[in-house]
Amino acid sequence: MSIPLSEMPSMSLQAVKPEDVTNAYTGKIGRCCCGCSGKHYTPDTDLRGVKSVLKRIQAQPTDKVFVVSSFGEQIVIYTDIGKRSLVLHVKKTA
Ligand SMILES: [Zn+2]
Repeated sequence: MSIPLSEMPSMSLQAVKPEDVTNAYTGKIGRCCCGCSGKHYTPDTDLRGVKSVLKRIQAQPTDKVFVVSSFGEQIVIYTDIGKRSLVLHVKKTA
């Protein structure tokens, strides 16, 4: 079960920087996320792509952004915009 980010006050979406992102993904809603229906970006290979996905997720209201998982060192969040899903893997900084 995904919970809206608005229910996780400890996670500040606006404070996330591109360097905190380990993987950014954008692809068709409900499809495989391996990359066959979308694209993965990492800061090392495509910082512009990471920034673009991050910016679009940050522009969403926090009740439209969902936490997929939050364990270990990373938190995974996603949102749907139009016909695309945007996913971010973010390093926990605190
Ligand atoms: Zn695939």
